[in-house]
Amino acid sequence: MATKGVFRIECPHCGESFDADFWTVVRGDRDHAVKELILSGEFDLLICPHCEDMIQHEEPFLYIDPPKDLLAFVMPESYEPEKDKWIARMNADYEPVRASLFAGQGITSAPRYLFGLGQLSAILESDRDREEETDVMEFMAREEGLKLLPVNPVVARELDLPFTLPMPAGLFSRAAGLKAAEGLFAKNDALPRLKNLIEALKTGKDDTIPFVKI
Ligand SMILES: [Zn+2]
Repeated sequence: MATKGVFRIECPHCGESFDADFWTVVRGDRDHAVKELILSGEFDLLICPHCEDMIQHEEPFLYIDPPKDLLAFVMPESYEPEKDKWIARMNADYEPVRASLFAGQGITSAPRYLFGLGQLSAILESDRDREEETDVMEFMAREEGLKLLPVNPVVARELDLPFTLPMPAGLFSRAAGLKAAEGLFAKNDALPRLKNLIEALKTGKDDTIPFVKI
């Protein structure tokens, strides 16, 4: 699904031009090696075939991760001063393929418009920390015989919650979820996002949990 485009680049070191491949669409949930390049900062590095020097060169691309409900237009940092113009252009460029790219992908959140890879890697790093804490919590929850319900990823990012919510088997209520989360936190208080989840559950007005995807 990851898609590449070819762009002509002029090497800033030797002045020669060459054609280079760039990702135009990256599927975060499938292109694991490409996602690692983004996280390691190597995504936008090229080697000039003439002088073999390293060049950093950003081109706009689309980052999609449907299970994480994330869709981001990632543009070079240098575009930021004219962000309105570029956002309009990105939207126009992707409009013809929007249906085929997004249909049935389960992305419900609004697109994010990011300038510079740093803004994307910050989201991905934060998600990775969240995944690690979620894994620890899930391990404990399974030992307690609890089941795990998916938290809406957009709300998980917004409120800094785990990606899942523990719930006793056969139950679904805010009170039961709160009790399960508090029970896990009593056993391991080194889980800040679980604490945020407890706070979020406490603020609920009735027995529903609006941020759990069912
Ligand atoms: Zn060169």
